[in-house]
This record gives sequence, structure tokens and C-alpha cells, in this order.
Amino acid sequence: MYLNFRGSLNNVVKFEDDAISIYGSGGKKEFAIYAHEIEMLGEFFEHTSFKQQEQLLKLKGVKKYSKRQRDSVWIYVDDRKKLPKKRKGLPLQGYRVAIDPGHFGVNLEDAQIEQKYLYFVKDSINRPNDSIKLFESELTYNTAVLLQKMLEEQGAQVFLTRSQNNFTSFNCTYNDWLSNHKQRVLDSLKKTDFISAEKYNKLIKSSNYKFFWDFFRDYDLLNRAKKINQFNPHSTAIIHYNVDEKNEPWKKTSNKNLTMTFIGGAFTNENFEKPDNKLHFLRLLLTKQLNQSEKLAHQTVLNFNKNLGVEVAGQFDADYLKDNCLMTESKGVYSRNLILCRLINSPLVYGEALYQDNHVECEELMKRDIEKFGIKTNSRLINSATSYYLALFQFLKGL
Ligand SMILES: [Zn+2]
Repeated sequence: MYLNFRGSLNNVVKFEDDAISIYGSGGKKEFAIYAHEIEMLGEFFEHTSFKQQEQLLKLKGVKKYSKRQRDSVWIYVDDRKKLPKKRKGLPLQGYRVAIDPGHFGVNLEDAQIEQKYLYFVKDSINRPNDSIKLFESELTYNTAVLLQKMLEEQGAQVFLTRSQNNFTSFNCTYNDWLSNHKQRVLDSLKKTDFISAEKYNKLIKSSNYKFFWDFFRDYDLLNRAKKINQFNPHSTAIIHYNVDEKNEPWKKTSNKNLTMTFIGGAFTNENFEKPDNKLHFLRLLLTKQLNQSEKLAHQTVLNFNKNLGVEVAGQFDADYLKDNCLMTESKGVYSRNLILCRLINSPLVYGEALYQDNHVECEELMKRDIEKFGIKTNSRLINSATSYYLALFQFLKGL
């Protein structure tokens, strides 16, 4: 059980004899879920939208549902997520997989805003003119397209949250979004009281850099999750490439190289101050998604280790693993309450295959020496995509 970050929820969630109860800030019981309702609500959460879940819980509160009321809930359940029937044809026919290639910057201007790039001279004595230049967004996008092709070859239906390596999830670059949508989006958020007039004035005037960190970063992530949930996938892969955190500000190479994956969970009581998060918590509590994510993430990290030859990270290998994550029983899989891990309504893996700033890796990642599916790429990205592919294949066939 990886939902409760080091006992942080002990006063807000209580497991009583016949019920799981969630308490509000004033100590008042807000929701109660009784033993005989767990199965029905688990199915309900898995197959409905956030809005439907919100409505149901508001109506239900602490009431105990009768058999008739439980049965009536089934009418909301959308059966599009049901597993495909076994049939002839390609092995992944009927399965839907969502892929989120992390970030968006593939030029120095965008990437400096996101802080997701490497740009330095590796060897200033022997090769002063050769610099390392890597954009995480380009690596993740390239990997996502390779993975997409591998899955599609087996019959799966695949959805990507971004349609070009320099695009945000809004199907345009960050700069285009600022020019064409910033004003309109902020106006409508102010009108509907999602942001205060004070915040609005601050955001309208802020620099592109500050606006990204104060608003756009989370806004884009929420949109990625929304698009994925609309696609209603049987599983989701979120693709990232890591750096050695101790090597900040990443102006030289590191000797370290480690692989790891994340899944949801690790809620704290501060998370519960936002009502939406209680719903995401309940979904993860009542469905099998967290256990399924652990299986998928474990297969993925084992494949990273095998196919990329990168050592699996232990809990003391990075401060964020030690301080912000819960270790799971599966080596290399960490429970972490990241926005996407919390919001996506499907089993998922959030992969950090390798450290881009590793002294060997950075050179390998810059290569475009292999062509696969018409894409100019390198063995590292192919092996990374293959690792996700093998894990997803095994996971989906085992569902
Ligand atoms: Zn990343």
C-alpha cells in the first residue's frame, strides 16, 4: 500500500471495521465507503470521467448504498475499457496505449525556459569545437514515435499527447500558444473564478520564463492527462530521460548512470486540501491501478537494465528518491505523487531510462546513425523504446 506517504494521511483517511472514511479539514466525515461497495465503486472509478466520479461522491457522501442503489450505478459505466476478446489477427489488436513524451523545447530558447537541455563542451582540451547539445523533448518524442510504431505493428491503437517534437500538448509550440491563446485562456479562467484578479494581472504581465513556471507547466500537464483520459487507454507510458541531480547545473559530464521508474501514490495530507485530490486518491485506493502500474513499471525498469545496461537506482542514489518517494517491493519502482501519476485513469509507467549527462551516454544520444521506421535515431533510443514495448506487451497480454 503506497498511497499514504509515511503516515501523513493517518488523520484524514481512516480504515474502520466495515468502512474506509475520508475526513475533511474540520474533522467531519465527508465520504464513507463500505466493504460491500468497494468492488462496484472500483469498477465505477475505472470506467468513468472525473466529473461523473465527483457527482456520484457528492450524492453518496457517507450514505450506505442498498443493493438496488449499487446496481443502478452500473448504468454510468462505460464499457469501452473492457478488454478485447481473443481473436485471430495481430496480438495487440483492440488494446489502446497512450504515450506522453515529456517536455516540448527543442531549441535553446524554449529549452532554457523548461530547463530541460544539456549544452556544454565536453572536452575543451582535445575537442574544443565539439559541444554536447541534447534536448530532452527531442529524445522523448523520438522514443515515443519508435514505441508507437512497434506497438502499431502488433495491432495496438496508440495515442501521443504531442504531435511534433517541439509541440506542447496543445498541438503548437509554447511561443505560438503564448501569442494565440494566453490572453483568451487567462480571461476565461478569471471569468469563471478559477484565478483571482490579482493572479490574473500578475500572469498577464509575467515573462515567458516566469509564466511557464507559475502557470503553463502544470496547465500543460493537466491537458496531457485530460487527453489521455479521453482516449481511455488500457495502459500509459510517460517517457522522460533523467540527469544526475548532483551534477547541477549540468555543464559537464557525470560518471553516474542509473535507471528508475515511477508510479502514483505517496499522498500527503497537504494534497487533501484540494478536493480533486481526494477523488484521485479514492480511485487509486479502489481500483487495481496502482498494483498494475507497479507490475508494468517493474517490467519496464528490468528491461531498461537489461537492454540499456544501466544499473537500477536504489533509494539512496538520489535525494528525490529518498525524500519524496516511497520505495515499492519492486526494485527500481518508486511511488511518487507526480501530477500525471495522480491524474491518469489507467495503469501507467513513468520512465527515466538513463542519465543523459553520463559521459558515455551524452555522446551516444547525439548520434543519428541508425534509421528505423524512417526515423533517424540511435541505439540508445531504440533500446529504450524496445524496453517500454516489451514491458507493455507482456503487461497487456497478462491483463
Ligand atoms: Zn523529464
